[in-house]
Amino acid sequence: MELENKELCKQCGGYCCKKSGCDYFVEDFADLSYKGLLNVLAEGNISIVALLKFSKLKTGKLTFTPILYLRARNEGRDVVDLVSIKKSCSLLKEDGCSYDLANRPSGGVNLIPTGDKYKCYPKEDALSAILKWESYQKVLSRIVKRYTGVSVDEKIRQDVYNLFVEFLNSELEKVPIEEKYDVLGMMESLLIIFPKEVEKATNDVKNKKCKKLVKQS
Ligand code: SF4
Ligand code: SF4
Repeated sequence: MELENKELCKQCGGYCCKKSGCDYFVEDFADLSYKGLLNVLAEGNISIVALLKFSKLKTGKLTFTPILYLRARNEGRDVVDLVSIKKSCSLLKEDGCSYDLANRPSGGVNLIPTGDKYKCYPKEDALSAILKWESYQKVLSRIVKRYTGVSVDEKIRQDVYNLFVEFLNSELEKVPIEEKYDVLGMMESLLIIFPKEVEKATNDVKNKKCKKLVKQS
């Protein structure tokens, strides 16, 4: 099993990196303290992101639990990027990844290249690696608050609003098929949990489009 094959990935054109930045595993960092994490985030190439685990309460009400973790930053996204349409990794350059194998996020190293973008496969289970971040939720939440001034829940509300604005402006049409499915797969749950944010996004996009039409007429 070959962890890196530049020739195959060159032929492919970096499809996996165009889908999104890859995940960091907890083992990638020597210092996961508040200060240690602030230092790595200050370098500007990493975002705090969130996996939303949806579940139903005994009452039948749909809810979610966010699992915060770190990922190589996507183009145009911020240091705190909890829920959004994933875009190409900002570390992907013309000649491939900016990092050599030793410094690459483990989520990227974990994907074994085959040259066929649909057949590349993870060496270790990627979800289990994300779940290891569960022990670091407190410190990551503190950092979200420090950067954004709001709680994780409030930031997710803001992000859901922005996600629907982007969706209504056809941004989802610009991303690879796997990301389209991922976003569409969680839309129904988001519509149920965040009706106000969805309604506001819908009205804001509609009003903006109307104003544009009035200006043009
Ligand atoms: S790992 Fe697979 S999908 Fe990613 S660039 Fe290489 S061949 Fe393409
Ligand atoms: S960090 Fe490198 S391997 Fe990971 S997604 Fe970005 S360009 Fe690809």
